[in-house]
Amino acid sequence: MIVAEQKPLDEIKAMIADYEKILIVGCGTCVTVCFAGGEKEVGILASSLRMATKLDGQNKEFLEATVQRQCEYEYNEEVAEQIKEADVILSLACGIGVQTLTEQFPEKLTLPGLNTTFLGQPTEQGVWAERCQACGDCVLALTGGICPIARCSKSLLNGPCGGSQNGKCEIDPDIDCAWQLIYDRLKALDKLDLMMQIKPVKDWSTGRDGGPRRIVREDLRLEAAS
Ligand code: SF4
Ligand code: SF4
Repeated sequence: MIVAEQKPLDEIKAMIADYEKILIVGCGTCVTVCFAGGEKEVGILASSLRMATKLDGQNKEFLEATVQRQCEYEYNEEVAEQIKEADVILSLACGIGVQTLTEQFPEKLTLPGLNTTFLGQPTEQGVWAERCQACGDCVLALTGGICPIARCSKSLLNGPCGGSQNGKCEIDPDIDCAWQLIYDRLKALDKLDLMMQIKPVKDWSTGRDGGPRRIVREDLRLEAAS
C-alpha cells in the first residue's frame, strides 16, 4: 500500500493561512490503513486546526469529508457540492489523490496535508516498512521474493556490499541487510545458485528514470468506447 504521514501542524497552518473555509478531504483506502488520512484523522486534524487557529485569533471554518478512493474521479463526485462551498481543499490522501482533485476540480486549489513516503507494508503494530520502489521490471524471482531495490540501502543488484555486519545494514544497524535476507531465503529454498548469477546492469528506463510512466490497456479502452 501507499504509506504516508501527516505534515507538521505548523506547515499545514501556514498553507491554509489565506483561506477561511477549508474542506479537509480524507481517503478511505491506503492512508486509512496507515492511520494518516482516513475519516478518523480528518476529524482529529479538523479539531486540532479549529483549536490552533482560534488560539491564533483567526476565524476559520473547517468542513470534513472522506471519500472511499481519492485517486478516482467517480468517488470524488460525492464531495463536489462541498468543494463548491469551500475556499480551498486540504487533501489527506497521497500525492495521487491530491493531483486527482486538482485535475477534477481545477477551479479550487488542493493542498497536500500528508507527505507521501513509500510503497510498503505494516510489519508490526505502528510500524510500516518500504517494500517496493515500483521499478517497472520486477526481479523478485531472482532474489527469493525480497526486493534488493527497495530494501538494500544501495539498491545493489549483486550484493551484498562489504559493509554487511551480523545481518544488519552498514547504513543503519536497525535495518536488516537485504542481501543477507536474500541469501538466507535462497539457502532455505536450495536456490543459492541464483546468488552466483551476475545480474546485468538494470534497465532503469522502466523506472522513474524513464520519465513519468503510463500503462495503457487497449482491450479495456476499446471496451469502454463500445
Ligand atoms: S524489483 Fe522492482 S517491482 Fe519488484 S519489488 Fe523491487 S522495486 Fe518493486
Ligand atoms: S549492508 Fe546489505 S542492505 Fe546495506 S547497503 Fe550493503 S548490501 Fe545493501
